Amino acid sequence: MTNKITIAYGDGIGPEIMKACLKIMEKAGVDLSYDEIKIGEKLYLGGNSSGIADSDWQKLMDNKIFFKAPITTPQGGGYKSLNVTIRKTLGLYANVRPVKSLFPYVKTKHPEMDLVIIRENEEDLYGGIEHRQTEEVYQCLKLITRPGTEKIIRFAFEYAKNAGRKKLTCMSKDNIMKLTDGLFHKVFNEVAVEYPEIESDHWIIDIGTAKLADTPEDFDVIVLPNLYGDILSDVAAQIAGSVGLAGSANIGNHCSMFEAIHGSAPRIAGQNIANPSGLLMGSVQMLNYIGQNNIAEKIENAWLRTIEDGIHTADIFEEGSSKQKASTSDFANAVIENLGNKPNKFKEISYPAQSKKMDIQISREPKVKEKTLEGVDIFLHHGDFDANKLGESIKEKIQNDNLELIIITNRGVKVYPNGNPLTFCTDHWRCRFMAKNTSKIDSGDIINILSSFKDGGFDVVKTENLYNFDGEKGYSLGQGQ
Ligand code: NAD
Repeated sequence: MTNKITIAYGDGIGPEIMKACLKIMEKAGVDLSYDEIKIGEKLYLGGNSSGIADSDWQKLMDNKIFFKAPITTPQGGGYKSLNVTIRKTLGLYANVRPVKSLFPYVKTKHPEMDLVIIRENEEDLYGGIEHRQTEEVYQCLKLITRPGTEKIIRFAFEYAKNAGRKKLTCMSKDNIMKLTDGLFHKVFNEVAVEYPEIESDHWIIDIGTAKLADTPEDFDVIVLPNLYGDILSDVAAQIAGSVGLAGSANIGNHCSMFEAIHGSAPRIAGQNIANPSGLLMGSVQMLNYIGQNNIAEKIENAWLRTIEDGIHTADIFEEGSSKQKASTSDFANAVIENLGNKPNKFKEISYPAQSKKMDIQISREPKVKEKTLEGVDIFLHHGDFDANKLGESIKEKIQNDNLELIIITNRGVKVYPNGNPLTFCTDHWRCRFMAKNTSKIDSGDIINILSSFKDGGFDVVKTENLYNFDGEKGYSLGQGQ
């Protein structure tokens, strides 16, 4: 049975590299038919702020597999990233980015590098939930969920096991973001126990990134929250030789999307000089995923042999070591010539048939027995920057039987009582009220205190309730509290 997949030629260098890849795939003998959709710049500029026609969502869902060239997101506000929209709408929660050194044929300082980055694809700051709250202060909400985290961590362990990899490294910034990144690290530790055959470790993201840039050969598979994964995978691809070399799979339980990691490179578009390798490696991931692993290995072996032959596109061409500076189409033709050949120096690729799809299931049974309201953070827009004056004024004007002011922070650091005069203050103040007796408060007390704030002439811009979950605080302390 022929597999029908959705394809899109994209923008910039997209059409050139897609044409090159489809030609290689066809000559390699793929069993595929194509349902083309138009996405990207033309749709955006034609007034469709999401970059895809509403009617094409059904095709993506029916065909399940989407092979996509990069697109251009126009500069300026109002345009939502189509990639993020597709990943989140179709539940493509796992982004898999293998990065491997092609030394000595492609220049790199890291000849032994061979790693896979698994990036959480739906959460974190990519919710794009942003607000301006005061004259000076803007915020972006970072959402890390237990099911989202558990899905990506389980996926990463299963991936490592199936791919015969030895080690899975988690990176986060849980020394600072103890609740959100802390959850990511905690779930990683919980799931790691179920995979004793895979070595597991954790790095703080900043030093982990430095370590990866310095000795990438020490890493095997790395799992990260969305933003860190986005940054780290570009670093990894670049130090391996070129962002033009890496492919990317976006895997969900129902649909999946395969692409290159790079963008539409508008400056070199239309010149037939772009490297089609990243998209080609995306196609290899796709063919493996849909069970055409024989074709996937045939293409990758031919591609490795072409790289060994010194036939290189401009981005990886080196005078002296490369033999021919190839155009996009020449490079594709050279890969086609090599179909059936094996690499001489690189290890020959052999992909076993994937016996089953990774269908990661997680339990969502509620576990929390008791959720107790302990207080409330009330955020004010207040343009007089004297913390003591503000604190005294709140003490005087806001009287409440059940809640008392404990602390005021500015950008997270304590400024009242006993603030440090050197602390820089903005016009955004968090006033933390705690219950005098937790068994006595409910949301009615919060409504009452908000109305006192209104009567006192304060400008409340938001509130956050402070809960305790089965004895564990569901909020962080203010710095200096
Ligand atoms: P880019 O990845 O397009 O380009 C970065 C640099 O790498 C440029 O110097 C470019 O010439 C080079 N490069 C990239 N791919 C190459 C290839 N295959 N061969 C040779 N050289 C290559 O990143 P950018 O310039 O930041 O973004 C350009 C556009 O792409 C933007 O509109 C951006 O929003 C979009 N973008 C799309 C995707 C996607 O569709 N998946 C991903 C990233 C960026």
